[in-house]
Amino acid sequence: MMDAAVRRITVLGATGSIGKNTLDVIARHPERYSVYALTAHTSKKALLAQCIEHRPAVAVLDGEADAAWLRRELAAAGIATRVAAGAEALCDVARDSAADTVMAAIVGGAGLLPALAAARAGKRVLLANKEALVMSGALFMDAIAASGATLLPIDSEHNAIYQCLPAEHRGGLSRHGVSQLLLTASGGPFRHLNAEALERVTPEQACAHPNWSMGRKISVDSATLMNKGLELIEACWLFDAHPSQVQVVVHPQSVVHSMAAYDDGSVIAQMGNPDMRTPIAYGLAWPERIDAGVATLDLFQVARLDFEPPDEARFPCLRLAREAMLAGGTAPAVLNAANEVAVDAFLDRRLGFASIARVVEDVLEGQPPGGAKRLEAIIDADRRARDAAVRRLAHYAEMRA
Ligand code: NAD
Ligand code: MG
Repeated sequence: MMDAAVRRITVLGATGSIGKNTLDVIARHPERYSVYALTAHTSKKALLAQCIEHRPAVAVLDGEADAAWLRRELAAAGIATRVAAGAEALCDVARDSAADTVMAAIVGGAGLLPALAAARAGKRVLLANKEALVMSGALFMDAIAASGATLLPIDSEHNAIYQCLPAEHRGGLSRHGVSQLLLTASGGPFRHLNAEALERVTPEQACAHPNWSMGRKISVDSATLMNKGLELIEACWLFDAHPSQVQVVVHPQSVVHSMAAYDDGSVIAQMGNPDMRTPIAYGLAWPERIDAGVATLDLFQVARLDFEPPDEARFPCLRLAREAMLAGGTAPAVLNAANEVAVDAFLDRRLGFASIARVVEDVLEGQPPGGAKRLEAIIDADRRARDAAVRRLAHYAEMRA
């Protein structure tokens, strides 16, 4: 491949689980990819190590003191990476014309503005940060269309569906003969626990996912099924689907990553080992295919594939997410914000596991959905929902005491 064809990549959230997997795939193909920028929140030592290995032109940390530390360490190591700090620098690097591809892998609403900046700048956007799309769906998809950006889903389920749909699938699923999207869910580590046992699970148990190794927030979301709820919303925006066209299927082996069902009875599935490097490599190389470092699926070892319906009585977050999507406007942003606050509190042992859904439901009930066509309205709804969630935390903390 000629030098001119080398893709210049910015990895937002480089030190996280998705970020590390992205750099792993990139490092396998130095003739195809070079790293333009790497960003992290506070993990300065991890970012320093990544800068030494990948030699980006730019690195971004949140705090000025951390950035100053990184600048000194890089200078001492003789590395010319420019270091910037803060949320505005994050957006600058996401829209920087020196990169053509942006991996959006920050966790939570903190990733919204930089992901949107990349979308508005017409990048190839590899979207792992599902919360950004959940919060701003219409706005985000409009930005992609207006700028001519290419949006490729990295979430394994959506990446699977993308692979199962016809190349041109815009404008409503039914126009392309697709009757339903089948979104698979592992069911999380607590699939078999009853309601009483769910009250007592710990952050350590929640973060020990049976099939995937992921960041702490998404691990808790997988355990409550909020992750599947966020993914349902994500699928509606990405594939122009109505919530009724997305069926969640619990599939404990996590081998079928999702499916598309067609009018003629065909169901097309994408399968593989549960390893995020597969969807990441797909997004990086699309429409080509490259080695991701993932072994071919051994079906004899898998032996069997099980499927069952989700239990929304024990895991109400899935229902709450569907209802928020049906309510529309800022309701998904409110759902997401309340969930982020509740998950944080659970990880800090300030809230019980089963109360995560209670906080989200209370906050949704208290915040009527407004219009979500303007970014300011979304940010405002997000802020109000966080405040309301903090107030509900106090209520449930009292109940536990
Ligand atoms: P993680 O917690 O491992 O990493 C998060 C990254 O974002 C880190 O680099 C961190 O420094 C950065 N970050 C966190 N808060 C920030 C802030 N306020 N400002 C700037 N940067 C910040 O998370 P992860 O598991 O890699 O997940 C990243 C995103 O990808 C999430 O939206 C998640 O839902 C999605 N996703 C992850 C997986 C997975 O397998 N891990 C799969 C599908 C989707
Ligand atoms: Mg997923």
